[in-house]
Amino acid sequence: MSDVLNYNDSCLFCKIIKGEIPSSKVYEDSFCYAFKDINPQAPVHILVVPKTHIVSCAEIDRKNSALVGHLFEAIAVIAREQGLDNGYRVISNCGPDAGQTVPHLHFHILGGKDMGEKLV
Ligand code: AMP
Ligand code: ZN
Repeated sequence: MSDVLNYNDSCLFCKIIKGEIPSSKVYEDSFCYAFKDINPQAPVHILVVPKTHIVSCAEIDRKNSALVGHLFEAIAVIAREQGLDNGYRVISNCGPDAGQTVPHLHFHILGGKDMGEKLV
């Protein structure tokens, strides 16, 4: 994996990663950044994003899938750090039909309560 970052100048989450827009950071390493969702849907609601501009799950391919694997390693670390020992949900909305509002790949970590009815 490369440390070279590929930003999109008009992307909200790229601006957050660069520090141009403030965020509540909970985790950062060479490849990913995690911060609290501004509109939390659970006591713990964290967004985990790659430090390179990938639009959505639909753009995951052989060249960047190792980075996605790394994001899931980070998700496990973050969940432990947040004390989500009783479980949590990981969600990625992909494209308009799933209601994706920010076109930079992100995984929601939701937990800290019984997450209720499952979607699937
Ligand atoms: P999605 O709808 O799956 O694309 O998720 C985008 C998420 O980004 C939503 O849950 C928003 O609440 C969250 N969000 C939007 N702007 C910000 C921001 N400036 N800081 C933190 N979270 C944000
Ligand atoms: Zn971006």
